[in-house]
Amino acid sequence: MGSVILVVEDEPAIAETIQYALETDGYRVVCSHAGLPVNTILEEQPVELIVLDIGLPDISGIELCKQIRTWSTVPIIFLTARSDEIDRVVGLEIGADDYVVKPFSPRELSARVKAVLRRVGQTSVHASENGSFQLDRDKRVIKYCATVLELSKYEYNILAVFIEQPGRVFSRDQLMDRAWDEPDASMDRTVDTHIKNIRAKLKQIRADHDPIVTHRGVGYSLEITA
Ligand code: CA
Repeated sequence: MGSVILVVEDEPAIAETIQYALETDGYRVVCSHAGLPVNTILEEQPVELIVLDIGLPDISGIELCKQIRTWSTVPIIFLTARSDEIDRVVGLEIGADDYVVKPFSPRELSARVKAVLRRVGQTSVHASENGSFQLDRDKRVIKYCATVLELSKYEYNILAVFIEQPGRVFSRDQLMDRAWDEPDASMDRTVDTHIKNIRAKLKQIRADHDPIVTHRGVGYSLEITA
């Protein structure tokens, strides 16, 4: 069973809207209309992130978050309805990763989910190694054949995506999604330009080999090396 986003929200209409928006963006979603079942759900299946309403009928979302934090680091995004709740969320050390104020647009929430997951993913993988590549996320440094690459921001982001999932084919859209801060702001062609530049830099270090594989009409991948 794959990871899911758990939406804890007692108002069915809001829960359904959130579920629809997240599923449209490719996430698997499980909904709970109360807070108390959450601990059981967390024990039963892998949960990638929790969207947690503060005003629940059985337990306050803030209290529930504190309980979860005693044993789990699963990312939590609060849904708040009132400004005094926001003050509590922001002011207290309750361990939420972000919050969204009602009324919110489903797109906004989905964007927050994505941002939190990206942030969490980056901090949990500090360093990776793939064949001739070494990635140090803390220092934002990539070495190729033990030589440090001089990369622009987006060249680094793209290559880091490849190194962490060698062999996986990424479409241009997927690369933009993972490497750009504002995916909509750039044109599709820019991915090709960055790939071209990355290849040129790799070639300066090792002229006889191109580790980036072009999949015609699909996208790019980094070759799998032993
Ligand atoms: Ca509520």
